[in-house]
Amino acid sequence: MEIRNYINGHFIDSLSKKNIEVKNPANQNVVGFIDEALDEEIDLAFAAAKNAFEKRVLQDMDAAHKSKIMRLIADKLREYKNSSSIILSQENGKTIKQCEGEFDGAANVFDYYAGLTDKIENKLIPSGKDSFNYTILEPYGVSLQIVPWNYPIALFARSVAVSLVVGNTIVIKPPELCPISSNIFGKIFSEVQMPNGILNIVHGYGDKTGKKLVDHKSVNQIVFTGSPEVASEILKKTADRIIPCHLELGGKSAAIIYPDANIDQAVESTVKGIFKPNAGQICVAMSRAIVHHKVKDEYITKLNQKTKELNIGPGNDEKSDVTPLISKEQLQRVTNYCHSGVQSGANLITGGKQQEIHNGNFFKPTIFDNVDINSTIAREEIFGPVISIFNFENEEEAIKIVNSTDYGLASGVFTSDDQKAKWTADRIEAGVIWHNDWFVDGVNLPGGGYKKSGYGRDGGIDSLYSYGQTKRVSKRLN
Ligand code: NAD
Repeated sequence: MEIRNYINGHFIDSLSKKNIEVKNPANQNVVGFIDEALDEEIDLAFAAAKNAFEKRVLQDMDAAHKSKIMRLIADKLREYKNSSSIILSQENGKTIKQCEGEFDGAANVFDYYAGLTDKIENKLIPSGKDSFNYTILEPYGVSLQIVPWNYPIALFARSVAVSLVVGNTIVIKPPELCPISSNIFGKIFSEVQMPNGILNIVHGYGDKTGKKLVDHKSVNQIVFTGSPEVASEILKKTADRIIPCHLELGGKSAAIIYPDANIDQAVESTVKGIFKPNAGQICVAMSRAIVHHKVKDEYITKLNQKTKELNIGPGNDEKSDVTPLISKEQLQRVTNYCHSGVQSGANLITGGKQQEIHNGNFFKPTIFDNVDINSTIAREEIFGPVISIFNFENEEEAIKIVNSTDYGLASGVFTSDDQKAKWTADRIEAGVIWHNDWFVDGVNLPGGGYKKSGYGRDGGIDSLYSYGQTKRVSKRLN
């Protein structure tokens, strides 16, 4: 796999002469190195993207041809899925099967948006006999995209694919903790003969390369997926330049489990929502369960039983259910949160500490009950396999708890009563609400945050309007 930066259609030799060591979270073995982009590489990447934008390479490209190239990208992602998933699993920690799923998902995103290239129908707005008005969805220009480490391939695909449709050219920074597998996109873009300069991949640490990218004078839009703290810093740094920012941030997603719910289904969804995929390191993880007092004992007993059956292990073992946390820092962070949970008086039912395996960053799936809604573990994003359980007596109380954090990314409601589900969904402050399961998703479905979980939408047709701006053309007819 390439370890260089991909600029203007080529992997280029390092100008900074610096690189970043990438470690396997399951054992700390060195997976490889990636070249670090500093001032010169960053300038080259923006110059290439700016040039491609100014030449209107994407905007003037025949829509059917663009669609064909995007479908080829999808095909190539499937072709390289197996080999790339091994690297992704080594640098990220997820199981190889999950990594393959991530590549499949990325391919589906390119296929879906390939189908939209010739279907953006702008508006002709009637306003009487004296004028003629129409709109065009236009790109912003050079889109800077910054990606986190938990789903680097899926998140790369979702913002790049829609940018191609709308016509933005791209400078993208993969996450420093697992950057290597993202370089497959450079190889693929060259192989499908995407014109040079449209995609530029630069690697580096957030507080160095990331900051320099945000400060660059050629940025016209920023797509940031990551923590609210960094998002807030980016907003402050771009305020004077009035740069539009599209922000996909953290979450503290909660499921409300009503007494008429199928508890076995709710338990299955909980295991899937917080423990199994990527050890809970998911922005939309089910990190809270708000359970009616009549069914709480049954839910906790069954959840505890299922949790004990989970295998904790590395991503290259197909039997592993709970894979490692991304880094030692993340392991310490999750451990600290669990200590604070115990100190706040929450009842630790299981887990709460590291699982020692081969110097890996493994953490035991953890269940806290009787959590105080004002405590730190109730309010902050832990980003690990830790769930907090709350008790409720009536619907209003459940809604109060679900909306009690600063976040509003996803939520769930478990009930056999559709009217109650609708009543609940109408009152939850979150961009996505799932009913009777978790992760009911698809490339054609929009998602995004309320409150500190960000703004702008990814997925589906809505996404086009988060990556572009409407221009109106009005002609006086007499
Ligand atoms: P992070 O904010 O630390 O880093 C995200 C990216 O920003 C990385 O590429 C990093 O190098 C870069 N970065 C860091 N500091 C920067 C700076 N000052 N200027 C510019 N770039 C900088 O987040 P993380 O720890 O990588 O990811 C976890 C967070 O991402 C969680 O909060 C999670 O919920 C969120 N997330 C959200 C979504 C979503 O779609 N809403 C998806 C995945 C992850």
